[in-house]
Amino acid sequence: MLPEALRAVFIAGCAGLELVEHGPALERLSHDQFAFSPLLQPQLQQCLADVVVRVQRSQEVLQVAALCYRLQIPLTVRGAGTGNQGQCVPLHGGVVLDTSGLNQVRSFDPVNGLLIAEPGCRLLDLDEWLQPQGWALRLAPSTWRSATLGGFIAGGSSGVGSLRWGLLREPGNLLGLEVVTLEAEPQLLQLDAAQAQALNHAYGSNGIFTAVTIPTVPWQNWQELVLELPDRPAALALGVQLSAAALEIDALCYLEQRLAKQMPPLPKLAAAQGDRLLLLASPNAVPVIEQLTTKAGGSLLWQRPQWPPKGLLLRELCWNHTTLQLRAVDPLFTYQLVLLPEPELAFIELIDKQWPGWLYWHLERLRVSGKARWVGLPLFRWQGEDQFKALNTAMAAAGGLIFNAHALTVEDSGLGIVDGDQVAAKHTNDPKGLLNPGKLRGFNKK
Ligand SMILES: Cc1cc2nc3c(=O)[nH]c(=O)nc-3n(C[C@H](O)[C@H](O)[C@H](O)COP(=O)(O)OP(=O)(O)OC[C@H]3O[C@@H](n4cnc5c(N)ncnc54)[C@H](O)[C@@H]3O)c2cc1C
Repeated sequence: MLPEALRAVFIAGCAGLELVEHGPALERLSHDQFAFSPLLQPQLQQCLADVVVRVQRSQEVLQVAALCYRLQIPLTVRGAGTGNQGQCVPLHGGVVLDTSGLNQVRSFDPVNGLLIAEPGCRLLDLDEWLQPQGWALRLAPSTWRSATLGGFIAGGSSGVGSLRWGLLREPGNLLGLEVVTLEAEPQLLQLDAAQAQALNHAYGSNGIFTAVTIPTVPWQNWQELVLELPDRPAALALGVQLSAAALEIDALCYLEQRLAKQMPPLPKLAAAQGDRLLLLASPNAVPVIEQLTTKAGGSLLWQRPQWPPKGLLLRELCWNHTTLQLRAVDPLFTYQLVLLPEPELAFIELIDKQWPGWLYWHLERLRVSGKARWVGLPLFRWQGEDQFKALNTAMAAAGGLIFNAHALTVEDSGLGIVDGDQVAAKHTNDPKGLLNPGKLRGFNKK
């Protein structure tokens, strides 16, 4: 908590800006979806901003940044607050800067698809704006309806589109940023693709985005498909075959039968009788997918065009929405994120042997450094921290690469290593370490 006098000076300096100073709105805007993690929940529940500032223009961001620097007040940026690891939770209180009102498209080139948009633009709004012009976003989390562009770049990692375009941090997915620094005289920097990379997935700890430049792709009416296979080996083999074929597939998700059964039903889709693959595929790909599915002993059960997006979408059964849907049935479930070693079946069998029936397997197919891989988001009923640690140890020992979904810092939820470029950008753009303090472990204040 800030001393009352300091808080009053800050508020006086915000004349003309929209503030939230107390009440349930202050609490809501200090939190995100960290309840997904039974480890983070007790650590973050009590965190509260001293004040939230809602901005609509870059000039206002500069004003707040100058004030925070002068008064040495922590500043944590927020988009829609859909992060599930406390990415936008102010660990040390201070100011939360809500950038969801900074939501204009700055420019769009209809020839090459280059989009410059403000960070508060909601991803679905952007796609709805692009679609009549024949373009679409490359990548989106399953929180497509509510998440902001800035929050996805700073806090997200991958999602629908990652089978074609890889992780958000793959070079080429972010082409530039306009950024406000936290200095005595905050600057409005224009960063190119190479410079912007150090701020990509840094939890807003080394610069405040006021505009984001991304490539878009030609729009197509992806078909939502549900395939059913007799068992896991057949489903995983088909997933590998489909993602290696000359087919345009934007998303490919595997749900084991127990999990598929718990998902809310898509219209007129019968309950799962086997393991399922959920796909977003180009209309041209559907006949080949159906033929290969039949050959694998399965069937194409259900198909619907994704556009216009209405009702429950297939993507809202995938990625971390699978977790959300299962938690709606039983809130004791949580998940872990692990890149599976090949052969994946042997890995799954090894883990299942140690804890029979505990893990419900959910996998997503995505491209990592150009190669299609399965990433696992296995779900399990929380059995305490010791068993969770034992699971991580076993998965790592079996060759899994864990991206800990229950960690607070950029590094600990990534590969566990410090990215020197991210830290250097923080020293330059935020020398006092006021931006989202506590989230970039590699930063040591001088
Ligand atoms: C059910 C569910 C499903 C999800 N699925 C996915 C998924 O498929 N893929 C995925 O990657 N994530 C997923 N997430 C996590 C999250 O929804 C996404 O990463 C989303 O893109 C975050 O956007 P947001 O606007 O809500 O950001 P917020 O949660 O508000 O913020 C995220 C981070 O970005 C920073 N930030 C926000 N705006 C700015 C800015 N203007 N400048 C600098 N930093 C900023 C914040 O400080 C914070 O560190 C999921 C979460 C849930 C609860």
